[in-house]
Amino acid sequence: MATRTVPTLQDLRTAPKVLLHDHLDGGLRPRTVVELAESTGYRGLPATDVADLTRWFRDAADSGSLESYLETFAHTTGVMQTEEALSRVAAECVEDLAADGVVYAEVRYAPELFVTRGLSLDAVIEAVQDGFERGTRRAAEQGVRIRVGTLLCAMRQHARALEIAELAVRYRDVGVVGFDIAGPEAGFPPTRNLDAFEYIRVNNAHFTIHAGEAFGLASIWEAIQYCGAERLGHGVRIIDDITPAGEGAAELGRLASYVRDRRIPLEVCPSSNLQTGAAPSLEKHPIGLLAAMRFRVTVNTDNRLMSDCTMSSEFARLVETFGYGWSDVRWFTINAMKSAFIDFDERLDLINNVIKPWYAEVE
Ligand SMILES: [Zn+2]
Repeated sequence: MATRTVPTLQDLRTAPKVLLHDHLDGGLRPRTVVELAESTGYRGLPATDVADLTRWFRDAADSGSLESYLETFAHTTGVMQTEEALSRVAAECVEDLAADGVVYAEVRYAPELFVTRGLSLDAVIEAVQDGFERGTRRAAEQGVRIRVGTLLCAMRQHARALEIAELAVRYRDVGVVGFDIAGPEAGFPPTRNLDAFEYIRVNNAHFTIHAGEAFGLASIWEAIQYCGAERLGHGVRIIDDITPAGEGAAELGRLASYVRDRRIPLEVCPSSNLQTGAAPSLEKHPIGLLAAMRFRVTVNTDNRLMSDCTMSSEFARLVETFGYGWSDVRWFTINAMKSAFIDFDERLDLINNVIKPWYAEVE
């Protein structure tokens, strides 16, 4: 076990980590994209050589153009239109996260994006759950314990949020742990989907909302105060309600105070934010100040394929940029575990029996 005080990438891989914000269609292995394109007859790929395609995904996501960024998802969702493909991608997702030391993950996707070849929404969900179960079993066979919960997303620009919310509740006893809305923030405020959020709340289910990524405070305010979001996907624009007051001090506006006081978790995805322009550089990324001010900050991957990242590599970048040590990594990890949508007993078990004992050895 690691004993050095500065965590290296290798050390970080062995540390138990918790991931709350990861998109299924943003985390495929490049080789799998190529193989599925072939087996499902998808002809749109920009490259069929694995190394070329890997580079293409990163470059397109890095280009600063929203069109290229979105095109990357056209290809991943394009090869995920059969039950076999969905199940394989889900199983490999779990294996990859387990191999990276993730002990608990909430993986999300929008079922409505996988019906272009005629699958029903139920068939999509069942295929993904089947894959998650297989991946979890395969990891266990390797002696690695991982628990994965599913979040079902509705797309902001479509009008199916209530239908997806109903599915999230219907499948909650078989692996779905929550609901989310994703897609473009500008022009599609979360209040367009109030009926879906109300449905989730009256059924005592859980939800997060993608809000405050590139779009400003209004989106965060609506997500929390009108919709009742328990967590914020990204949420980093809350920084716009914080005024630096010199010598590391800062003054919080009322919304920022509310978010911090209520311990509303921020699902921060540093590398993804750099690619979409939500932050100019890691040094200037709001995570530094938000963590220093003890917001409930969590660290996440968002899209491992497009950002060419893992949970370990995200932490390694933060360690390098902000000088974080093991106690910081542990803090982010426990923040995430506390904020998960699974039962309190299960969260406590992972914190007390998996996370805390491991970090106690290295701190
Ligand atoms: Zn996201």
